[in-house]
Order: sequence, then structure tokens, then C-alpha cells
Amino acid sequence: MTTNDAAALAALKQDNAQYLWHPMAHPQAMQKSKPDIIARGQGCWIWDVDGHKMLDGVGGLWAANLGHSNKPVRDAIVAQLDELPFYNVFRGTTHPRAIELSARLVKTMEPDDVAAVFFSNGGSDAVEGALKLARQYWKLKGQADRHKFIALRQGYHGVHFGGMSVNGNLNFRRAYEPLLPGCFHVDTPWLYRNPYTQDPEELGEICATLLEREIQFQGPDTVAAFIAEPIQGAGGVIVPPPNYWPRVREICDKYGVLLIADEVVTGFGRGGAMFGTRLWNVKADLWCLAKGISSGYVPLGATAIGNKVAEVFLNDPTGQAAVGHGYTYSAHPVAAAAALATLDQIEALDVPGNAARVGAHFQARVRPFVDKFSFVGDVRGMGLMLGIEMVADKATRTTLPRGNPIAAKVAQAAYRRGLMVRISGPNLILSPPLVITREEVDFMVDALEGAFSDVEATL
Ligand code: PLP
Repeated sequence: MTTNDAAALAALKQDNAQYLWHPMAHPQAMQKSKPDIIARGQGCWIWDVDGHKMLDGVGGLWAANLGHSNKPVRDAIVAQLDELPFYNVFRGTTHPRAIELSARLVKTMEPDDVAAVFFSNGGSDAVEGALKLARQYWKLKGQADRHKFIALRQGYHGVHFGGMSVNGNLNFRRAYEPLLPGCFHVDTPWLYRNPYTQDPEELGEICATLLEREIQFQGPDTVAAFIAEPIQGAGGVIVPPPNYWPRVREICDKYGVLLIADEVVTGFGRGGAMFGTRLWNVKADLWCLAKGISSGYVPLGATAIGNKVAEVFLNDPTGQAAVGHGYTYSAHPVAAAAALATLDQIEALDVPGNAARVGAHFQARVRPFVDKFSFVGDVRGMGLMLGIEMVADKATRTTLPRGNPIAAKVAQAAYRRGLMVRISGPNLILSPPLVITREEVDFMVDALEGAFSDVEATL
């Protein structure tokens, strides 16, 4: 909708302020703020209600990987609405799209040793499913003491009580404590900010060793799983050194700890490979999938279950392997249809390949911002995910103090120049649709460079 009716537009904005509480926002502040009301999307582009056109540098929210007007996905959704809008997959019933999608996903993840999938409604659900299946796995193996989870600082795993408890950011935890007992955190291999070293290889080794020491400290026979994102997204796009994940896999194997890969952002191509774990040549035991699975067109989450975990459930000697978990809308037919069409499109358009090729150009063009702008401390990323960390003092790497307006000013300048970006703390995050062209990347970087220059000129 684009409305030229000033009164209708004013009413829309007023109703948003009055009635809608937004995720991750202060309700009182939102009453006074003027959020961008996005009305329409086409390809990699979006329009706000005032008709202002922008390149969607946020990809909806790391999700609209095929852009906003993919016809095959749209047609699959409409056809499914005509055929069967909803049925459940609880014990005793199922439907064709759920079956087709599970088979398709397992085939897609065959190289990762995946045996089966469990569906839900989004990323937080996918994480919750993985954490619960991990605990159940150990109970079935007669090791009920293995109930603890270890995760990374700066990690983001959604907002349910389990995911929130393994989150590594105080902002998402503090108001809801006490959290799930038995969740512990170790340092993330973050080259720009760590007290150990500026050598990536050494940092990967040190951080892997910190995980090993935590497992030893907790008692390996009490640790159920280690959960991490292959590349941390919401934490500021933190790319681990290449040796980190292979070492983590070794350590998990050494102590029998399950490895959960939260691929909600990295799954389905964003990092330049179909899955983030493949970037590091590692196989997890459980995978959390959402967002790109349906290109964000309809909410869907999935927990992929590796052979090792599945075998224990399938050969259950205890009679306790029923999965006491699931949602009314698990494997919703419309979402499953959207996901099947999305997977077709990912293959047909070689979406991971495009993310790798166009992403390399994107990364190379933004990296020089570190030298060009006084308040850019670090540029990091891989494929089509990129974070720019803004600092108060580059020499000392002093972080922007809370409430510093620089980040918001950059976002506003980018908006004016026709680019939607996301600000998360001191980080500007970009995660455009994965079908973006080289020319659109150039538009995006030019607009971004202009926005940083606009703000630099005011300092
Ligand atoms: N895990 C990761 C890595 C995420 O980035 C997110 C959301 O951004 C989630 C889980 C939670 O997903 P959702 O917001 O769909 O519940």
C-alpha cells in the first residue's frame, strides 16, 4: 500500500504508536518514534508508505533471500491455499507438503549426515527443538546428568527460555531472569575485540581451548551440547578464524558433547555456502534452520537431526523416545509449500554461488571504509552478511557509548539515499537478498559510502 491520503497515513502512524508493541523496543519510546512503514517490495527493493524507494539491505531481517517478489514461491503459496490451507502433523496425521519437504531437506543435507527434520515456526522454535532433543538424547542414552549447555558470548539464539538462556547478550536476558539453569558461556573468537591476540589462527586455538576448559570444569559427563552460530549474526557479524570450528568439532567429539549449529541466519546460502558449517568443513549433530528456508515468505523453522542423534531415538531401549514437543503449526502446509519452492529456486538460481561471488565484491568494496572514515573501527563479514562496527576512538577501539547518535545518523542518511540498513548497538549490519546483482551491490555500497560521508562531514 502506498497512500497519498495524508489523513489515512497519519492515522496509520498514530495507530502504530498507540497499539503496536515492537520486538526489542521500548514501548514508551516507540510512541514517540517514527518507525519506517514499509508498504511494498519488488525484487531487492522496498518502498515505504510515502513512496520512497530503497534497496533492502536488511533482507527483511536476514530472511528475504529470494527478494520480495519471487513468482514461483508466491504461486506455490497460492496453490497450497487452494489445495489445503492447514492440517497438523501430530501423531496420526500428516500431509503431502510436509512429507515432501522433509525428504527434500534430508536429501539436501545428505552430505551433512542428516537423518530427519522436525518442523516449527521460526528460529527461536528451531533452537528450542534442538536444545530439548539434545537433552532427551542423553536421557535415552542413560546419561541424564548431561543436561548443561555451553554457548558463546555475543551469540544470539532467539527469545524462548532455552534460547535466551544460551544467548550471549545481556540485553536479551536481564529482564527475564532467572533463566534456564545449567547454561554457560565462553569467549567468542572475535579478532577485533579480545584480550588474547591479533593472530587469527592463535585466537581460534585459544577460544577452542577455552571451550575445552569449560567442558572439563563443568565435568564432561554433565554437558549435553555446545551451541553456536557458524558466523555470529546479530552479535555484529563475527566471522571465526578458519581453524575454530574444526577444533570445536574435535573437542566435542573428545568429550562426547553434541554440537548444535544455529544456522538460522547462515543456512541456505548467506555465507556463500549452502550451510555455514560447510564453510568450515564441519558436520554438526543438530542444526537450527529458519528464515531463508522459506525466504521469509511464510514463517517456518526446522531442527535438522543428524544420524548419530536419530539412531539413538530410533533404537530406543527405554520407551521414552516420544518427542514431547511440537506446535500446532509444525510443518504448516503453506509454509512447507513456500519452502519447497524456495529450495527449487535456491538450486535453479545457484543462490549460495551468487552469495559467494557477489558477496566477495561486496566485502572488498566496503572493507576500505576502515581507512576512509574516522568512526569506522572494523568491517567484517562473509558472503552477503556484513557488519561495520562504529567506534568513538579508533586508536583505542573505544566502543560508541550507549545513546551516541552516530549510528542512527548513518542509518537515516542511508535511508535518504535509498538504502535500508540495520543498526544493532554500535554495528551497522547488512544482509541483502541473496539474489542481489553486482550492480545492486554497487548501488548499495555507493549509498552507504555517501551516508558515512554525510555523517563524517558533520563531525
Ligand atoms: N538464531 C539465530 C542465529 C538468529 O539470528 C535468530 C533471529 O535472528 C534466531 C535464532 C531466532 O529466530 P526467530 O526470530 O525467527 O525466532
